[in-house]
Amino acid sequence: MKVLVINCGSSSLKYQVLDMTNEILQAKGLVERIGMEGSVITHEKIGMDKFKLVTPMENHRDAIGHVLDAIIDEDHGVVKDMSEIGAVGHRVVHAGEKYAESVVIDDSVLAALEECVDLAPLHNPPNLLGIAACRELMPDTPMVAVFDTAFHQTMPPESYIYAIPYEYYEKYGIRRYGFHGTSHKYVAERASDILNVNINDLKIITCHLGNGASVSAIKRGVCMDTSMGFTPLEGLVMGTRCGDIDPAIVTYIREKEGLAQGEANEILNKKSGVLGISGVSSDFRDLEAAAAEGNERALLAIKVFAHKVRSYIGAYIAEMNGVDAIVFTAGVGENDISMRDIICNDMGNLGIKLDLVKNKVRGKEMIISRDDSKVKIILIPTNEELMIARDTYRLCKVNI
Ligand code: AMP
Repeated sequence: MKVLVINCGSSSLKYQVLDMTNEILQAKGLVERIGMEGSVITHEKIGMDKFKLVTPMENHRDAIGHVLDAIIDEDHGVVKDMSEIGAVGHRVVHAGEKYAESVVIDDSVLAALEECVDLAPLHNPPNLLGIAACRELMPDTPMVAVFDTAFHQTMPPESYIYAIPYEYYEKYGIRRYGFHGTSHKYVAERASDILNVNINDLKIITCHLGNGASVSAIKRGVCMDTSMGFTPLEGLVMGTRCGDIDPAIVTYIREKEGLAQGEANEILNKKSGVLGISGVSSDFRDLEAAAAEGNERALLAIKVFAHKVRSYIGAYIAEMNGVDAIVFTAGVGENDISMRDIICNDMGNLGIKLDLVKNKVRGKEMIISRDDSKVKIILIPTNEELMIARDTYRLCKVNI
């Protein structure tokens, strides 16, 4: 059975087609500039050159139409007609407290997800547009929603309740939800496979360090805590997001700078993080190049980022009474050799010893701790699309 995985953003859309009988990726692509001048689809049948088509796409329905055309294209396609696609898996960012597992989409699920739009106003609406477009164009194909928040629903209340009046949790659902759940779950399961130890016998700290970044504490395969909160703004310092700050700063800056409604949010989400500290870039490659040339603020941004990751690792070791494995994943975690070095430096007393030679690796699964390190440090490229396809296949194969 073939599964189409769709990940819709506000003006872009990523997709993959996987054959789930052997979990092999067959095609993938990206649509950019949906609803803007210069809409473009870049499609790649695995093993062939990419093709690019610049064509007007007014909305997500147009975009999905072009995705389906590419998938059945005579030269670049991977199916003869759409009936070969047994199911579609959609990434949905926020399911609030409604779903702790992926779910087959029906009208009641859509209604529940509409209710969560308030919680993720930037992310859930495009996710829902993608689902609506697929349902219109493939009315007989079953669809599954896979949520970023689902994996973290196992957190105990002491991890997710904020110390603000309890009624705000009851009235508005204000609590910590956590994100990147599909990625944290995938790399934790891979870590268990790589170590050949049952996940029920492991305490794992997963560090998803990309442009957005979060850390999770996973005990016996279950999420105990995670660094992102009510929104993906809390926790680690990120590319452009501030992570944990004293909430009083927000009112203080709004007053001092006379900020209009929404401007503070924009600053904390888009102009902060390592970009805000350095004034150089949100990309760690640029920061490292600038730091090497003596840019002190770029160096400071790198240090602040690493400091925060180390703080969370320490906190989660305390929460779980130890750790067996620390996993690095996502753009920075998979590729940034010097960042992994700074994060793991001088943690020998905690049993964490990075092997500086093994650490010189990018983008492939590998144990990078020293042989005498009590805690295994593992690099694992994340694969959220495969997780979405697996859940979709699991939930739909009986119906096919
Ligand atoms: P992601 O959000 O997971 O796609 O990660 C994107 C981020 O990964 C980029 O903004 C870079 O900061 C970082 N990144 C990617 N490749 C490298 C690299 N070779 N060295 C350092 N950072 C990298």
